Amino acid sequence: MNIPFSPPYIDQDIINEVVASLESGWITTGPKVKALEEEVCKLTQVSHALCVNSWTSGAMLMLKWFGVKAGDEVIIPAYTYSATALAVLHCGATPVMVDVKDDFTIDVDKIKEKITANTKVIMPVDIAGWPCDYHAINQLVKHPAIQSMFASAHKNQEKLGRILVISDAAHSIGAKVDGIETGKLTDITIFSLHAVKNVTTAEGGVICINLPQPFDNAEEYAYLRLMTLNGQTKDAFTKSKAGGWRYDIIDLGMKINMPDVLAAIGLAQIKKYDTQLLQERKRIFNQYSQLFSRFAWAKLPPQDTESIQSSYHLYALRINHITEAQRDLMIDLIAKEGVAVNVHFIPMPMLTLFKNLGFKMEDYPTTYANFACEISLPIYPQLTTEQVNYIVDSIHNAYQQVIAS
Ligand SMILES: *Cc1c(COP(=O)(O)O)cnc(C)c1O
Repeated sequence: MNIPFSPPYIDQDIINEVVASLESGWITTGPKVKALEEEVCKLTQVSHALCVNSWTSGAMLMLKWFGVKAGDEVIIPAYTYSATALAVLHCGATPVMVDVKDDFTIDVDKIKEKITANTKVIMPVDIAGWPCDYHAINQLVKHPAIQSMFASAHKNQEKLGRILVISDAAHSIGAKVDGIETGKLTDITIFSLHAVKNVTTAEGGVICINLPQPFDNAEEYAYLRLMTLNGQTKDAFTKSKAGGWRYDIIDLGMKINMPDVLAAIGLAQIKKYDTQLLQERKRIFNQYSQLFSRFAWAKLPPQDTESIQSSYHLYALRINHITEAQRDLMIDLIAKEGVAVNVHFIPMPMLTLFKNLGFKMEDYPTTYANFACEISLPIYPQLTTEQVNYIVDSIHNAYQQVIAS
């Protein structure tokens, strides 16, 4: 059997939506993007969602919007995809890494230790679809002692009066905490719509704007939309209308808009996400959990509770009492059976760029422990019960061989 890790979900509805875009006479940012944004709002209950061309560019845009620059600090977990830190570095600011908890999410006590007068933003990361402890994080940034330490140096910092929380929800569209959808759990939430994510536009991202009073989210959306189009007052769609030629450049924007032809892919997916695609992911997640619960060596990922529902992006299996080298060997053996698995994530302190910046793996013991024994298993709607059984068997066999050797 040959089982890929994350093929995109493409059905006839998606093809039809893309063809409709191609045949419409308009292929870049326009009605399909608008429709996708409306679907994101419907799913998450946020009032405004803004499509961009990647999670990474969306994060850079929002950091710039908050005036984040050299000398500022942004607290992130050491355990994430590097884009979380790269967005910070691209703004000239300093990523401050903290360790995670056993459930893969950022440790709020560790955040507390790292907050200084230079801290402008916290970017928690929902790993494998499992949301962070947003109650604690939101409470922390509003704590009087923490809030009084906050030094405003930009009009939006002044207006918020505290640390901004930007959720890296690249994995967690459709996850919930206490019935509240990811997107509405923090000030700003950014989804990735990259090819391997739960909802995809091939490449893309979407920013959920959920700022508190006195911000006007409609106003911020309108401004940010221009900032994804070089700060230009008219998008190409409006300008293409007869007589619509004159425009202004109001601020130093970026060129990070999403084209309609890509939005069409995500639009057809998101329409069936809640009722179909997410349910299929849950089915696969639960089948893994049921099968692995028979094995003492298998450590299951966090399971849904009364209060928390995952988006089942990946199955983050951990193997009890094995070393990093043994885990690597297991992955080789699993690959020989035709099963593509992965590891989420290689902790940033293990990567050259971050090593050169002075980050050390030993400062993040739980991050390392989670990484060293983790194997990410595929979850996608097309996976059959038979395939999931085969994946679990191949992992069981690999474990037996590694332990016997
Ligand atoms: C995929 C991913 C990103 C980056 O998303 P892009 O859309 O590719 O920029 C950021 N953070 C995490 C946790 C991711 O998994």
